[in-house]
Amino acid sequence: DRRDADVAIVGAGISGLHAARLLTTAGRDVVVLEGRDRIGGRTVSAPIGDGRQVELGGQFIGPTHRRVAALLRELEIDTFPTYDDGRNLLDFDGSLRDYDGAIPPLGLPGLVGMGIAEWRLNRMARQVSPHQPWAARRAAEWDGTTFGAWLDQHGPGGRARTLLDLLAGTVWGAEPHELNLLQALAYASAAGGLRETAGVKGGMQERRIDGGPAQLCAALAARAGALRLSTPVREIAHRRDDVELRADGLVVRAAHAIVAVPPALVPQIAFEPALPAARDRVLRRLPSGRVTKVVCVYPEPFWRDRGLSGQAVSDGGPVGATFDNSPPDGRPGVLLGFVTGDRAATFATLPEPDRRQLVTAQFARLFGAQAARPEQYLERDWAADPFARGCYFGLAGPGAIGEAGTLLSQPLGRIHWAGAETTVASYGGMDGAVLAGDRVAREVLG
Ligand code: FAD
Repeated sequence: DRRDADVAIVGAGISGLHAARLLTTAGRDVVVLEGRDRIGGRTVSAPIGDGRQVELGGQFIGPTHRRVAALLRELEIDTFPTYDDGRNLLDFDGSLRDYDGAIPPLGLPGLVGMGIAEWRLNRMARQVSPHQPWAARRAAEWDGTTFGAWLDQHGPGGRARTLLDLLAGTVWGAEPHELNLLQALAYASAAGGLRETAGVKGGMQERRIDGGPAQLCAALAARAGALRLSTPVREIAHRRDDVELRADGLVVRAAHAIVAVPPALVPQIAFEPALPAARDRVLRRLPSGRVTKVVCVYPEPFWRDRGLSGQAVSDGGPVGATFDNSPPDGRPGVLLGFVTGDRAATFATLPEPDRRQLVTAQFARLFGAQAARPEQYLERDWAADPFARGCYFGLAGPGAIGEAGTLLSQPLGRIHWAGAETTVASYGGMDGAVLAGDRVAREVLG
């Protein structure tokens, strides 16, 4: 098959779909080429019966995610608060404690250590502009080291350190030693503080989308031009006057191409002529984190009756952190767990029944015996997905923030670059994906 179009878009995630909708609305003939057999990219929902769904990819919206919130309002899709009532759990070194509010029972030395580390990290984060992290006075120093190296040198030990390690896993899908310190600080700066990166009320996990992000993607796709699923793009030839995209079973000639795929996947496309060395190098220095989401579905959110929020932090199994991920009316009850970093890699080597057994045993220890027997067990290993190669987003290698600067968003002739990693201030999330879609649409229309 061959066809012509004004704009050919690679990737039907939020970013590609949003750009496609804007351009289609502006009267352009748009073709979206998607490698998978579904839309949504790093967002996906699984049905859990009775017309209900659960999110297995991106899902939370924080108070600073204004652009995606505005788009949801425009599309008349509601959001609702993540369940956050009741006591949280801390399960460290085999001892399980519940606690109110924001102060985990770390013991006095742990609380002091945690307080000092948080105060210092927040002070550093305030020196980093989320719009220009590379411009911070100490940018080069922080860009060249890791969150883990900083914690080793300046951070607390004991339980406070375990908590910070688990925070890195849950927030970034990374071990502390694979997390660029400047990237972590920029993220914390954008969120309004370290605590806010992991928090529910006032934090990045504050709200969810009614019907999940699948609702958003379906609404975008309804006006996104021609959509071709199961059509991975293999080559992009770019010339002075046009571009040619060669995908499985389809060649599209267009005036503009928009590439809206995660950075690690861009170099898998053969560009003709080849990508400039600097861009290719930066793209290869942004591999995504490692995260497996696990979900247990129960008839009721029984932990709520016991005064528990469903939020736990635990070092007693594969799951580092949990949330209550039930639908807005609490039916059915859904517990969500994050398996991240090295634990995700080990977890992936086990057979499915063993993985399920480990997760349900850990949930039972945290939330009571009822948690041992979910009606459904669902999981999704994002590192194993060839169209994601990890999540939540590209993590910078040493020095890569300064090296990248704004390079990833700069057009290359007739090729424009979208995707959640091509924005700086809302880097890596659904909000960034929408902002990137706005920008490429402006570029193409301008
Ligand atoms: P993607 O969604 O990755 O879309 C890219 C698309 O391109 C994919 O559909 C892919 O199949 C396709 N593609 C790749 N290569 C090719 C090719 N060669 N040819 C054709 N198609 C190709 N964000 C938040 O804001 N809040 C959260 O709570 C949150 N949690 C997350 C939890 C998980 C488990 C995951 C996986 C992500 C999470 N994120 C979260 C991140 C968020 O999902 C992403 O930032 C966002 O969905 C990215 O959208 P995108 O369009 O930029 O990229």
